[in-house]
Amino acid sequence: MDKKLQCPECKNDITLEKEFSDGDVIECSFCGIELEVVGKNEDGTLRVEIIEEEK
Ligand SMILES: [Zn+2]
Repeated sequence: MDKKLQCPECKNDITLEKEFSDGDVIECSFCGIELEVVGKNEDGTLRVEIIEEEK
């Protein structure tokens, strides 16, 4: 089963090549934003939050 995640920033579908757990960071290959896994939805898809870079 392919696991996919829709990037909240650019709305592209990111294909996940491994299992992710809470606290893991996923980098969107389309826009380069970093997303932190914060949990799972009832349908098994990952819940993520955009990591705001403050530099
Ligand atoms: Zn993106």
